[in-house]
Amino acid sequence: MSNSKMPLTVGLTGNIGSGKTTVSRLFACLGVPVYYADDAGKRLMREDEELKAAVQARFGAAIYKEGELDRAALAAIVFNDAAELKALEALVHPAVFKDSIAWGQRHLDAPYLLREAALTFESGSYKLLDKVIVVTASEAERVRRVISRDGVTAEQVRARMDKQWKEEKKMEMADFVINNEGTELLIPQVLEIHHKMIKGDLDS
Ligand code: ATP
Repeated sequence: MSNSKMPLTVGLTGNIGSGKTTVSRLFACLGVPVYYADDAGKRLMREDEELKAAVQARFGAAIYKEGELDRAALAAIVFNDAAELKALEALVHPAVFKDSIAWGQRHLDAPYLLREAALTFESGSYKLLDKVIVVTASEAERVRRVISRDGVTAEQVRARMDKQWKEEKKMEMADFVINNEGTELLIPQVLEIHHKMIKGDLDS
């Protein structure tokens, strides 16, 4: 995602309940600007007129009611239909990418930028990033956390997990791995990566 002017951009990802947002907040405490790609996608579907028009053209004008996206109707279309989901993503991802570039241009003096997203690998956006951090925790621990955070059932969590690549594959492709099982302290792991990013010590 870098060009000659933009600071390096580091992706931060991990499967559901791994602790991406928790870790992003630690980086934010160190003064690193964080772009939340998943939130941006939702926001842009509300605010970006070009994207709204494209979503309506593909999924029908009724998908917006009085200007508001009918999330339940859209979810019903895409949740169990891979082709429809792909069509939606093909509209949303480029809009998010464009928005994140504009956001990056507002943080040109940052040491580096962080981009948090659940599907950094699945969407292919890792190819546009300079480095990728993967946050990990065991499946049992992740399921426990999401049940207690969202008040959902284990089956509902697993249905969401099924749509994500396996953690092992992501760890192999990562430049940095943060273990968030709860057995290793998070802050020292975050500081180690932060110092490497700042010093430009990126090959180890
Ligand atoms: P999602 O993909 O669903 O957005 P996430 O990867 O962003 O999840 P978080 O929301 O950061 O994950 O964490 C999931 C839940 O687990 C949150 O309620 C968070 O407070 C809790 N949590 C995160 N890390 C830890 C930890 N090390 N120990 C205990 N609880 C944790």
